[in-house]
Amino acid sequence: TGADSSLDALAHDLDRAHVFHSWAAQGALDPLVIAGGSGTRVWDHAGRTYLDFSSQLVNVNIGHQHPVVVRAIQEQAAQLATVAPSTAHLARGEAAKRIVARAPEGFRKVFFTNGGADANENAIRLARLHTGRDKVVSAYRSYHGNTGAAIVSTGDWRRVPNEYARGHVHVFGPYLYRSEFWATTPEQESERALRHLERVVQAEGPGSVAAVLLESVPGTAGVLVPPPGYLAGVRAICDRYGIVLVLDEVMAGFGRTGRWFAFEGHDVVPDLIAFAKGVNSGYVPVGGVIISDEIAAGFDERVFPGGLTYSGHPLAAASIVAALDAMEDEGIVENARRVGDDAIAPALAELAERHEVVGEVRGDGVFWAIELVADRATREPLPDAAMAALKKDLVGRGLLPFVQDNRIHVVPPCVVTDDEVAEAVALYDEALAALPR
Ligand code: PLP
Repeated sequence: TGADSSLDALAHDLDRAHVFHSWAAQGALDPLVIAGGSGTRVWDHAGRTYLDFSSQLVNVNIGHQHPVVVRAIQEQAAQLATVAPSTAHLARGEAAKRIVARAPEGFRKVFFTNGGADANENAIRLARLHTGRDKVVSAYRSYHGNTGAAIVSTGDWRRVPNEYARGHVHVFGPYLYRSEFWATTPEQESERALRHLERVVQAEGPGSVAAVLLESVPGTAGVLVPPPGYLAGVRAICDRYGIVLVLDEVMAGFGRTGRWFAFEGHDVVPDLIAFAKGVNSGYVPVGGVIISDEIAAGFDERVFPGGLTYSGHPLAAASIVAALDAMEDEGIVENARRVGDDAIAPALAELAERHEVVGEVRGDGVFWAIELVADRATREPLPDAAMAALKKDLVGRGLLPFVQDNRIHVVPPCVVTDDEVAEAVALYDEALAALPR
């Protein structure tokens, strides 16, 4: 299709007239028009292209318009576009088999949902039914989704206007750069965050706590890779008190950290794994819970009181099969690891050296954050107005950034190349240099 900027205007006008957006006051929105994409790039109708270093909402792990995944969806649509979840469907079974093949031993069942929020929602339900307990302990620095229990498990500001579910308790997790525990080393941070968690569990009454729910690597909260020993220590606390450990791999899973699951790097095996995003790169909405054999066995005789019309939807299932096979065949997870180690890590370290405004860079695989500060000594966050200007500047330079609070999250698709990293880092460099001092 030829370049046609009138379609950009039409898309923008229709959006402003009729589309109600997530997490926003509706009045002043000015959404970017995106019409197409390929790999790490997207473009509008006029043909203006952008390097996508956001992966949209950190979900397009396989890149835009992977032909194998697109074809699988087209073929499934032609064969059977929808079917009830109570049926057996070949693609659904193949998808579940491929997902559990990547999980640790002792996981054989998948409950499919429509996305990440309801994955956590159902993980919490399973934990409550399994333990006969009620409370869920999660982190203040977290995001778990927009529905009932998931939004109240969330730690950030989005919880506060939505606090209608009960039985939720929050703790501070490890974050050495802004330690809540006066820690100066990763070991101290880990040890003290674990002690804090255990004290909260004890104070809440261990017999009332059904689950500890944590993102393996808190994503939106700042790509807070846990210090060595933290997640293994959480596992030990859960074991001590008979608590189900739910790890939310919605953002961190399926390649983002250069591993199939982020927790693989942390010597821990959870009881329930929530996933979504990267499992099929969002080509069709889907998520789910991978259930340990022990918890799944509890529902052999007992009814599982949960379900969704679109659980294991054929188009989603076909896209998962194709996406996971293509990721395997093309070494896409390995690519994320290698590009992270060889290209992103050194380039961001150099950015931090060149720019006083960079307080810290941290991450793993293709999952990084550049934390910006007004003052390196006090670590005062760069103000919102400067962040908004930086975001606008980067988009103007042809890069879609993921900007959250005082951070740029460097989160390209897992198929990103060294050259694309160099291109993006040059744009970050120019935009940081252009910040008013
Ligand atoms: N959990 C995590 C860690 C997430 O990052 C997100 C979305 O950003 C969710 C859950 C919610 O997923 P969804 O928006 O698909 O409901």
